[in-house]
Amino acid sequence: MKVIDISSSIYEGMPVYKNKPEKQPKFNTVTNGYVTESRLDLDVHSGTHIDSPLHMVEGGATFETIELEKLVGQCKVFDLTNVEDRITAADLEGLDIQENDFILLKTKNSFDEEFNFGFIFVAEDGARLLAEKGIRGVGIDSLGIERSQEGHPTHKTLFGNNIIIIEGLRLKDVTEGQYLMVAAPLKLVGTDASPARVLLIDEK
Ligand SMILES: [Zn+2]
Repeated sequence: MKVIDISSSIYEGMPVYKNKPEKQPKFNTVTNGYVTESRLDLDVHSGTHIDSPLHMVEGGATFETIELEKLVGQCKVFDLTNVEDRITAADLEGLDIQENDFILLKTKNSFDEEFNFGFIFVAEDGARLLAEKGIRGVGIDSLGIERSQEGHPTHKTLFGNNIIIIEGLRLKDVTEGQYLMVAAPLKLVGTDASPARVLLIDEK
């Protein structure tokens, strides 16, 4: 059994969405020589995180409504590193995606060490295809599942169909295939997202 950590590290200076300085985490460490304590100021969309519908839907469901049962279970990693610009329905059509699957999309993004303004994202027709398939969740290796598309149709299509969205995965060292996924977010209440530790367990 092999455990693969597919989470981003959290530190001051880490890659953040569009390099916005206000999105950088801040650590404030206080020590009196023998006791050390840190406070952390962290955007909930930092690094590897899970969005809740409130993020893009007015009055949408908050983070605690996401069932842990959906975050722990089998998942399928698909290698889409050949895809340029955006993942469309045509890119997803030929893949073995079944109802209730949790799919993780590995793209060129996993090889970026810094924020890439041209990151690969899921196009609206790709999101519609995933909704038609009835998957339970989708994860991607960019800090956004769409790149500021007008009206946020990808988020809205996925949330509207009860599909969980994980962003900010690191899939460079993961090969295509099936894994046991453990996605463990903080137990935040009332928020639009939560950072998460996401692990893949290769049972082979
Ligand atoms: Zn987010």
